[in-house]
Amino acid sequence: MIYLDNSATTKPWKSVLETYTQVSEKYFANPSSLHPLGAEAERLLMQARKQTAELLKVAPEEVIFTSGATEGNNIAIQGAVNANKGRGRHIITTAIEHPSVLRTMNHLEERGFEVTYLFPDKEGRVKASQVAEKVRKDTILVSVMHVNNETGSIQPIKEIGKVLTNHSKVLFHVDNVQGIGKVPLNIKNAGIDLLTISGHKFHGVKGSGVLFAKRNINLVPLYFGGTQERALRAGTESTAGAAALAKALRMTLDREPENRNMKNRLEKLASELSKYNEIIINSPVLRAPHILNFSVIGRKPESIVSALAEKNIYVSTTSACSSKDSEESIVLKAMGLPEERTTSSLRISLSLDTTDKEISDFLKSWKEIYYEVLKVGG
Ligand code: PLP
Repeated sequence: MIYLDNSATTKPWKSVLETYTQVSEKYFANPSSLHPLGAEAERLLMQARKQTAELLKVAPEEVIFTSGATEGNNIAIQGAVNANKGRGRHIITTAIEHPSVLRTMNHLEERGFEVTYLFPDKEGRVKASQVAEKVRKDTILVSVMHVNNETGSIQPIKEIGKVLTNHSKVLFHVDNVQGIGKVPLNIKNAGIDLLTISGHKFHGVKGSGVLFAKRNINLVPLYFGGTQERALRAGTESTAGAAALAKALRMTLDREPENRNMKNRLEKLASELSKYNEIIINSPVLRAPHILNFSVIGRKPESIVSALAEKNIYVSTTSACSSKDSEESIVLKAMGLPEERTTSSLRISLSLDTTDKEISDFLKSWKEIYYEVLKVGG
């Protein structure tokens, strides 16, 4: 099997799964229980929180464990605007956010908030000056992703944070799901108030995530219950999920120097694929080391995904979350690319475990599919 769909999800590392099972078995008690077993579970949860905080270079009380980034983005965005709607109802975001942000914005528009969508340039990048132009007296939130999940384009988070230092009451939320461990970002130096990551995107387990919420930020909870996770994520905590996330995050960040090899593998893919006449690379030059998006003009991407799957090779059409709903990539469309490209795109995404051999085997299989199965130009 050659798995090249790591932006959709990664395979959990064995040692991370071991941590998950061991903690589930030994520390199964409810961390809120007063008896010693509860206290043990609480201690372990605190340890995971402390480790995660150290890795993210934030304070432990700023780490809120969630079930993933969809939940984190919703708690952050809805929580922030509901807490601040007395001051204004204007939000700024980009047209290339993940559906967990875009659909939350649509919901807020239905509830009377006004959302300004920033459009990227042909390189898939918005500019900090666009934020500066659109920010107003009644703006309460700016939400911009760090790395785009379809193209790997990198947004100027630090520069946007700088623009917002002149607007101290505007909260800054960053979806860093595709950026964590891939493109360095110092949360504290970038003026970020809220940031989300998801465990399953870096070899952790599904159903685990972190919302960083600055210490003094006031958020209205999405739902109500116990006081767990600053009362922002009520419900019994997943001690095992938190411990597994902390471990996966540490292992990922420890291996950050290997991103250079990942980048080289991606560059090889890009240069080999570019040799085919019908292929146009959509990912910008300034991109994360793990994502390559390209169009095969005149071909249905689903038929290529199926042909590759028959050879045990797994890639995506656009993003996994939207690939079943729509034939056109809204991200590529927002970049101003023509329909022949927005409807024919594929995404290959690597992980730290992708090898040189997998890349060369992929390219061999690609050649066969291209000429034999798809009969493109051959
Ligand atoms: N944000 C981005 C950029 C993503 O790529 C994803 C997952 O595809 C999410 C948010 C949602 O993450 P989760 O699957 O943890 O809800």
